[in-house]
Amino acid sequence: MVDLKGQYNDIKDIVNPSIQEVIETTAFINGPKVHEFQKNLEKYLGVKHVIPCANGTDALQIAMMGLGLKPGDEVITADFTFAATVEVIALLQLVPVLVDVNEDDFNINIEAVKKAITPKTKAIVPVHLFGQCANMEAIMDIANKHNLYVIEDNAQAIGASYTYKNGKKAKAGTIGNVGATSFFPSKNLGCYGDGGAIFTNDDDLAHTIRGIVNHGMYERYHHDVVGVNSRLDSIQAAVLNAKLPHLDNYNKARQNAARKYNEAFKGIKNIITPITVNGCDGICDTCDCHVFHQYTLKLKGVNRDALVNHLNEKGIPCGVYYPIPLHKQKAYLDERYNEADFTVTNQLVKEVISLPMHTELDDEQIEFITSTIIKFING
Ligand SMILES: *Cc1c(COP(=O)(O)O)cnc(C)c1O
Repeated sequence: MVDLKGQYNDIKDIVNPSIQEVIETTAFINGPKVHEFQKNLEKYLGVKHVIPCANGTDALQIAMMGLGLKPGDEVITADFTFAATVEVIALLQLVPVLVDVNEDDFNINIEAVKKAITPKTKAIVPVHLFGQCANMEAIMDIANKHNLYVIEDNAQAIGASYTYKNGKKAKAGTIGNVGATSFFPSKNLGCYGDGGAIFTNDDDLAHTIRGIVNHGMYERYHHDVVGVNSRLDSIQAAVLNAKLPHLDNYNKARQNAARKYNEAFKGIKNIITPITVNGCDGICDTCDCHVFHQYTLKLKGVNRDALVNHLNEKGIPCGVYYPIPLHKQKAYLDERYNEADFTVTNQLVKEVISLPMHTELDDEQIEFITSTIIKFING
């Protein structure tokens, strides 16, 4: 699904000495590399504050802690996402309120969000799934109207931009009150282990969060709030400093692969290729509205699981993200949910398949993958 080795070979000469330097200087925790990465990422995203942390799940949790959400507060998020998003809501004893997504872009459905708001709602967590932003303008309007916080789960869309109706752009993750991302190795900006970060333009929130990631300390050995221990280590920061300057090119390589996939599947009526909804109406080659963390097809009238088996037999990796809606997961069952409210997610889990997507895909691989799929479908 991903080829991290090829990417490493290209940046080896920068990454290796930089990791070596961390070891030689023994600045393993909160060393200068971490500060440097924080500044580099702030500049790249055009955001006032980046707070690095240990992983993307922590980033989401810490963002919610920083906003002062309290047990019983309701938090609305998408039914079709990775479990981390809902997990941290539940861990903090907040009440997850899962809602349906759109059929076209797989992102949180605005009408469903509106319908889910109650007097207890305190926050909305849009997930920028597979590499493109949720409808942030509509989400921010709802949030402003109902006085809600917006926490962007940007684990899958770092480097993507959101385009407002008036043409103004902002980087994914910098629009709501706070954004969270992951540097898990297979993400668009991945390190060589675990890593994450929180972004915000709010000075007070940034201050609060800097204390929370460090055991609730704002002054050494004074613990003002209950915090956590969540740090990006210096070796990971060294890797990220080497990779960040390439992020736009990495995302371009993903877009190029997506364009080639799209072209190969053109006219195959059982296959619906990914639809880009923000900023452009088709396949991105000059814009950054979709950074293709995943390249996900919808299959119509095809036995998806048989295709998965067939691809596995042919040695082609593929993934089903996600096979079970979160509202049907044992840990998150809630009698308030009504199946009629999840028609899209319930359908998507049966139809989706994600193909290999990374920066090193070549034409020959794409041709082999697409022709194998088309042959299977045409019988
Ligand atoms: C990867 C991911 C996370 C969690 O990131 P980790 O660094 O693995 O903790 C959260 N949300 C989404 C949507 C993700 O894809």
